[in-house]
Amino acid sequence: TANSTDDVLRKKAIVVGAGPVGCLAALSLAKAGWNVGLYEGRPDIRLESSRLNVAQRSINLAISSRGIAALYAVDPAMATRFLKSAIPMRGRMIHDEAGNQESQSYDPQGGQCINSLERGILNEELLDQAAAHPSITVYFQHKLTTVDFDKKVASFSSTTPEGKIQAAEATFDFCVGADGSYSNVRRQMMRVVRMDYQQEYIAHEYIELRMPPGPVVDGSTTFLIDPNHLHIWPRHSFMLIALPNKDKSFTCTLFAPKEELTRLDRPHTILNWFREHFPDALALIGEDTLLVDFARNPRSSLISIKARPYHYRGRAIIIGDAAHSMVPFYGQGLNCGLEDVRILQTIFSARGIDGYASSKKPKVHFEVEGDVDVDKALEAALEEYSRTRHEDLTAISELAMKNYVEMRHDVTTPLYRILKAIDTLLASLTPSVPFDFLAPLLTRVSYRHTQTRGWIPLYTMVTFRPDISYGVARERAAWQARVLRTAGLATLSLASAAGGLAVWWGINRRRLFF
Ligand code: FAD
Repeated sequence: TANSTDDVLRKKAIVVGAGPVGCLAALSLAKAGWNVGLYEGRPDIRLESSRLNVAQRSINLAISSRGIAALYAVDPAMATRFLKSAIPMRGRMIHDEAGNQESQSYDPQGGQCINSLERGILNEELLDQAAAHPSITVYFQHKLTTVDFDKKVASFSSTTPEGKIQAAEATFDFCVGADGSYSNVRRQMMRVVRMDYQQEYIAHEYIELRMPPGPVVDGSTTFLIDPNHLHIWPRHSFMLIALPNKDKSFTCTLFAPKEELTRLDRPHTILNWFREHFPDALALIGEDTLLVDFARNPRSSLISIKARPYHYRGRAIIIGDAAHSMVPFYGQGLNCGLEDVRILQTIFSARGIDGYASSKKPKVHFEVEGDVDVDKALEAALEEYSRTRHEDLTAISELAMKNYVEMRHDVTTPLYRILKAIDTLLASLTPSVPFDFLAPLLTRVSYRHTQTRGWIPLYTMVTFRPDISYGVARERAAWQARVLRTAGLATLSLASAAGGLAVWWGINRRRLFF
């Protein structure tokens, strides 16, 4: 299946799914010399006609250092452009039931931010880059139906511009499944791989609502609430969050138990419920807008998927949501999917794997010099990826699940605030590592860092330290929590002993002195 371009024989990779992860994977492979076919089941999202028809999952999302590091590893200029079109959020803004607001910084020491980015901008720009690359061909309206991994042939059901449905085939040397939570590549792989697989729908669902821009002041539109925060209205068993958009609106997401949302089926029930739980948000969103969004927007479920292994021999791999869909409460689903691409790129690079099939291959900046038996090397590389990545993917999936309770409940409790203050105080003893310093290193150094020193809050490790793997972050945080618990217990014991001594002293003082 090797293709000849410019006198150099190239191997052919197919990437199924032109979501953000698939596009980045295509760019990464093309950069390493592969001829890439990028296959997308839906029409081109950049076309006006499909914008109206395609139901987007969420309007915007938070992208943090891991995602940016992955973009940077493939194309530093692209990472910089994304950061320019994003809105930095430096902390959570907690809105209590009385309408008070409290800012909780994400990184009090280093001042690092997460970034609100419109999903459409991210996906469209990545698609633009992929479509413009001479080694990538994008096929829209090509829905993968089956794959014969041993014959290295993928079959698609394609729709012609005239609307005719026909079968299409593609041969490949390497197949990447980036086709999202309901991945067909994963399903096809399950027929030939002893894959452990687990999926769980959580009891909560979500619906998106829009908070409009504020009034025009001095000729420009304003935001109704502070744009540099991720706003949370925690209400213990449910919550509302809001992320800023470039047009000065906010996209709000209401997460609540399915039964709670089912009860909200009439305009007056919806309004009364909002008046009771989110009166300040209701005033900002507006009653009419709220009712329109409730009627028009879908209520969506949240799924968590774990699989293992992620590959089949030296032929195929699943990445992104196809491999590890997670609940969105750590804001890491996409970050983690993009990181999959960076890690795969690092493993390939370290093993000297590229897409050139001829000995005339141009000099590529790899750590291994000379020719490599690509088929064997590819199998070993994919095996290494499956073996080392699993712990990290399980870790972030479980952390994401736990973070829901932190966001909707814990943030309101005094104990959370005390522990957070101690965490921050201890972290101030460890120097923070700025991302600008880390990013260029991450394209070269080992992808699984285990030598973490000092005290680093869990949120900082997960969100701002792509050099620390999710698994190590979780281990490290568990150790820090144990230290805090032991110190807390020791303080409590000392305080009780001191109290007891004081009482004893008070009772016996008379007897001792008189
Ligand atoms: P997708 O974006 O699902 O793309 C898969 C692509 O494959 C699609 O284009 C689809 O059409 C195509 N496809 C599917 N089947 C086929 C087929 N058979 N043939 C061809 N093509 C096919 N993550 C964050 O990092 N930060 C956040 O703040 C955040 N917020 C979120 C909020 C919500 C409410 C939700 C639900 C998720 C959030 N996420 C967030 C997670 C993030 O959206 C996903 O992790 C991310 O979109 C996964 O990207 P992907 O490219 O792997 O898959």
